This record gives sequence, C-alpha cells and structure tokens, in this order.
Amino acid sequence: MTMFSKILIANRGEIACRVIKTAKRMGIQTVAVYSDADATALHVEMADEAVHIGPPPVSESYLQQDAIINAANRTGAQAIHPGYGFLSENPEFVEAVEAAGLKFIGPSAKAISAMGLKDAAKQLMQDAGVPIVPGYHGSDQTPELLKSEADKIGYPVLIKARAGGGGKGMRLVEREEDFLTALESAAREGQTAFGDPAVLIEKFITSPRHIEVQVFGDSKGNVIHMFERDCSLQRRHQKVIEEAPAPDMPEDVRQAMTQAAVKAAQAINYEGAGTIEFIADGSGRLQTNGFWFMEMNTRLQVEHPVTEAITGLDLVELQLRVAAGQALPVSQDDIAINGHAFEARIYAEDVPAGFLPATGKISHLKLSDHARNDSGVRTGDQISPYYDPMIAKVITHRSDRNEALSALTSALAQTQVSGLASNISFLSKLSSHEWFGKGEVDTGLIERDLDALTMQNDPDEVMIAVAMMIALDWKTAKPQSNWRMFGSASRMVSMTYQGESIERRLDVGVDVASSDLAGNILSQFKLIAHHENSVDIEVDGMRFGLDFANYMNGQDNHVVLYKDAQSFEFILPDPLSANAQANTSENIITAPMSGVIRLIDVSENAVVSEGQRLIVLEAMKMEMNLAAPCAGRVKGLTCQVGDAVEGGSILIEIEPEA
Ligand code: ADP
Ligand code: ADP
Ligand code: MG
Repeated sequence: MTMFSKILIANRGEIACRVIKTAKRMGIQTVAVYSDADATALHVEMADEAVHIGPPPVSESYLQQDAIINAANRTGAQAIHPGYGFLSENPEFVEAVEAAGLKFIGPSAKAISAMGLKDAAKQLMQDAGVPIVPGYHGSDQTPELLKSEADKIGYPVLIKARAGGGGKGMRLVEREEDFLTALESAAREGQTAFGDPAVLIEKFITSPRHIEVQVFGDSKGNVIHMFERDCSLQRRHQKVIEEAPAPDMPEDVRQAMTQAAVKAAQAINYEGAGTIEFIADGSGRLQTNGFWFMEMNTRLQVEHPVTEAITGLDLVELQLRVAAGQALPVSQDDIAINGHAFEARIYAEDVPAGFLPATGKISHLKLSDHARNDSGVRTGDQISPYYDPMIAKVITHRSDRNEALSALTSALAQTQVSGLASNISFLSKLSSHEWFGKGEVDTGLIERDLDALTMQNDPDEVMIAVAMMIALDWKTAKPQSNWRMFGSASRMVSMTYQGESIERRLDVGVDVASSDLAGNILSQFKLIAHHENSVDIEVDGMRFGLDFANYMNGQDNHVVLYKDAQSFEFILPDPLSANAQANTSENIITAPMSGVIRLIDVSENAVVSEGQRLIVLEAMKMEMNLAAPCAGRVKGLTCQVGDAVEGGSILIEIEPEA
C-alpha cells in the first residue's frame, strides 16, 4: 500500500479537524468518532463518516479502545490517527490496533514504552549520550534515600511523577525541610492521576527555558529534525504561547540541540512525528553545554503548527506517508527555517477567577482573517466540562520575530468570543509584554507578571452608553436622523456588568449623551454608522469603531463589546422581570414596559401630590396607573396621549417640593 484510502481519527476538537483537513487534501476518506456530547461537533460534520462510541466521559468514549477499533473495522478504515492526548501515547492501544490488522499512525508500541516513563527515558538517553538534567532516576523509592539524593543534588530541586504529563505530579522544592511533604504530595498526585506513585528528582534549572526539537523518522531508518520551538511561556508547567525558531538561538547551540534530538530518536528507531523536550539554562546566552533532555512526547504536539509555518511542511501529511510505509519525502538538507511563527492557545477560562475552566455555549465566535486558526468549534457549540476547554489556536507567521509577534497581537484583538469567559485578553497582554517582545523568555515570566497580565479594564462611559443603545435595539436607527423612533428620546436604562447594576439616563438626539441619576453628564458622542456587528462612534471629533456581539440568553439581552482584545459583557435583563423595572430615581417616572400612553392627568408645571395618578399606560393589554413618586411640580412632560413608548422611557420628571 502506498497510501491509505480511509483513516479513522480517534480524537475530537481541533486536532481531529486538523487531521481531517490534510486527509481530505490528500484524497483520503475520513471517519470520526464521537461521544453523546459531540453528536453535532465540527469534527463529526467534517468527516465523511462518523461512529458513535459512547457517553460523554472520556473513559466511556474517547478512551474506549474496543469501541474505536470496532468503529474502524465497521467502516473499513485501514489506519487510526490518535491526535494528541487520549490514546496517543498508550502502547497497549497500539498493540490492540495492530492486532486488529490496522495501522497505528504513530510510533511503535516499543518506542512509546521506552519514552513513557520519565525515569527509564532519562536512563536510555544517558546511555545514548544525550545530556540529561542532573538528578536521581533510580528505582529505590524510599523517602530517606530520595531525600538524601535531593540533598546531594542541591536545592532547589524538582520532584516529578515518572508517569506524569500535562504538568501534573510535579513539585518544586526550594528548601531541604520542605522535601518530604512535597514528595508525599507528588507521589500521591502520580498515584491518583497516573496510577503510579514513583518519582524522579531533578536539579531545578534556574531561569529555565523550554526548548524542544521536532523530529521525524520513517521505516527506512531515516531520522530528521525540523528545528526547534521555544515553549517557555508557561503557566503551571503548561504551555501558553509557543514560537519557532527559539529567540536568540546561537547557531552552534541549535546544531548541538538538533543533533542531540536526532540521536535520541535514533536510539529508539523512532518512526513518525515526535518531540524531544529540553530544558535550557536561560540565565545568559544559550550554551552548547547548557541544555538537557527532559522527556520525549511520542506524538504530534499541540504546537506543531509553528514548525509547519517556518518549514512549509505539513506534519500530518508526513505522518500519513510514514505510517503508510513511504520514505520521508524530504531530507535534512531540504529543510530550512523560513521566518518566524507564534501560536497562542485560546481557552475557555475565567482568568480573573484564577484561570478556572469555563463551560457554556459559545454564542459568538469570530476568528482573525490574518492568522491561521486551528479550531474545533463554531458559534453555537458548547464547551462542556468533559473535555479540554480549548477554543482555538491562533498561529501567525511573518518574515521576522517582531512582525510575527505584532501579527499575533492584532490577530488576538480580532478574535472574538462571547457566551463564556476566554483568556484572549490575557494572551494579548502577554503578546505585548516588553520582555517577551525582546525575546527574554523563561518559564517564570508569566508568574512574575501575573497581576499585570490578568488585569481587566473596566468599560468606559462611552462603552456603557453604546452597550445600552445596542441592547435597546437602537441599532436599526439611521444615524443623525430619526432616532426619536420610540416617541421619547430620553430613557432610564439599567444594565448589569459583572453582576453590578449600572443605571444611566440616555438622551438621544444628534448627539447621544448619558448621565447619572443626579443629572451629571458622563459621556457625549455621535453615532456615525451602524453595521451588523460594529458601530462607528465619534467622541470629541475622534472617530473609532467598536465591535460587538448581541445575543439573547433566555429573556436576557446580552451585549458584548470588544476593545483592546478584551470583551465586556453587559446584560439587559428581561423587560418583564422584576429587576428590570426597578425605578431607582425618586423623581422620574419611566414606562415600566413598552406600551401606549392612554391618558395624561397633568400638564407641565402642575403641582402634584405624592401618589397622585399622572399617566395611564396600556401595556400587555392591561392598563397601568403611573403615580407621582413624590410631591412637587411637573417639570418635564415628554409624552403625549397615543404615544407608543419603550420600557424605560422617561415620561415625566418632577421637581420635588423644597
Ligand atoms: P504539548 O506537549 O503537545 O504542547 P500538552 O502537554 O499541553 O501539549 O498537552 C498534551 C495533551 O495533554 C493534550 O491533549 C492536552 O489536552 C492534554 N493535557 C494538557 N494538560 C492536561 C491536564 N492538566 N490534564 C490532563 N490532560 C492534559
Ligand atoms: P510534562 O510531562 O508534564 O510535560 P516535563 O518534564 O516536560 O513534564 O516538564 C514540564 C515543564 O516543567 C517544563 O516545560 C519546564 O517548564 C518545567 N521543568 C521541567 N523540568 C525542569 C527542571 N529540571 N528545571 C526547571 N524547570 C523544569
Ligand atoms: Mg513536557
């Protein structure tokens, strides 16, 4: 066989979609698998066929080896692509796939096993002559021995669960007296998360940079590399923004590191895509003797697109070719670095709340036209608690680092998500971080500047007024002309922003003005133009656009404004709900809901007593009496009998008795 005619993708989300794209381009049929939670997911829609494999929990669906292999057999797929995560680094799955007469698109079970445990992998690499992080990776796990090894290495040390991954099961120990407690918790986490309490101990490299090398092998014995990626921007040992090549990488260090990576892959006769992760001493210029092997990931990596960008290669295509038995179509000399690329991982998470994963419906999703976007979701999809809450990866590629980084900043500013929290503004702040811009990266950068990076701006008064106008559907009004479409141009509007209520009086004429309840003007501007998802505003002769999304959640009207890569979500409550009618002003009478004025009892300047009926409004086929909230004199009567008024419209103002 020179190429498969049909493959199954044992994954979901962006990576399943990513694999399907390349397969389609190569004329290969695709089969998706899906859980109940993913019945209408994008990867299911994109694939030629799809097979249901179980309920939402991964242990009952995407980790169900038999169900997946059955799905391949039933659909006639010849090979299985595992994506990343899930079953991608599970040697038993590889064996089961092969036992079923199918091809696993990835390395052999043996290669995966050799690199599966961090301690054994380090031993293997040491034997192959690859530099490893100084430390202890023996089998004796008695706490006393581990402690004496840590003392020997010298603090700070890092305890790692040998079966760990995704940043789990790691503990940094700065002082000798904290070692045993940290050991206990690392071992416990290793046991709960990976079913293995064994740990290894490493010297904690100061000012560490995470630099990894993409390698590729084929069944003919060729092993090549595709240069390096720098993944030093991490939070809790998880990658946040990645780039290729590494900034300020000296050519001799690149040579040494890529050669060490090729040697590592050769040592296990590696076939397919793999990544050798190194930790490098970033305290000064990178050195040929200043980097050490950490682990190998025997799969396609989340951040593979930055390598694709700078090499022009399609790594999924190469995976398929190699798995089908072809030789790598490129040799080492064919591959060169072209320009610079960045990837930012957009997650549904509530950053101010401490990066809590967010779930819910994506009511609006807009991706930048000036970046590569790898995503597995679209507007209307649900981010569920069952899976990784990734929304998209944004990848930019330009001729140099500065350009690629500013392209990332603008692509993030053009990316809009609403309906649930996302980390876009955090990523944007990070992309314009001064030290990152200079290429001075290390794995502690984010933590050191966390406050500034997670800071959220408050909406300004113009934004508040614009959000109110959008929510009230004044968007269909023609600028400058007939905005008085509601009979009354002054309204009291009450919205909530982050749970807090905001009340403004809006006056709409040629200019829009908002004021507080005491009558102080807070903003004044012109609405120049109105588009489907943006408005053009002019403030003091300065024009600018504001993007927005507007959607209903139940009866509540949500308006999301996008500014400086941050989203500002306002909620106009259901006009029929009690809190929408809260009339906070002592002396202003507003229409509690939309209706028609049937009767007006008073005229301008009339003296009224508290509780006296002033207006009768017909709404919802009922008549409502609107009474004077206080004694005083009628100052502003803005309506006439027969007027149709919107809920919130100001009808009468009363100047209270002195
Ligand atoms: P990479 O090393 O390819 O950049 P990661 O190590 O961040 O990717 O994640 C690889 C896989 O592990 C992904 O499928 C991701 O969903 C999964 N993963 C990442 N973090 C966690 C975690 N905290 N718990 C479980 N799985 C995780
Ligand atoms: P995982 O399997 O969870 O990806 P790794 O061994 O790859 O675990 O380490 C994850 C991250 O922890 C690295 O990217 C790096 O930021 C940090 N790290 C790992 N080892 C060291 C070390 N010896 N010194 C400093 N930082 C380290
Ligand atoms: Mg790692």
